[in-house]
Amino acid sequence: MSKVIHCECGQDVRGATDDALVQAASEHVQRDHPELVGKLSRDDILAMAEEDDSAKV
Ligand SMILES: [Zn+2]
Repeated sequence: MSKVIHCECGQDVRGATDDALVQAASEHVQRDHPELVGKLSRDDILAMAEEDDSAKV
């Protein structure tokens, strides 16, 4: 099951695996939320993640 984070900025960040999701979220934070770089741990990112139902459609 892939996962998705619904970011507070309105973007969705998706990953097929936990590692891919953390990687994608890190890139999103660096690009759009530079003030948060270094403040979100892997556990923080995974805690925000939800199962991505859109993949089943
Ligand atoms: Zn964002």
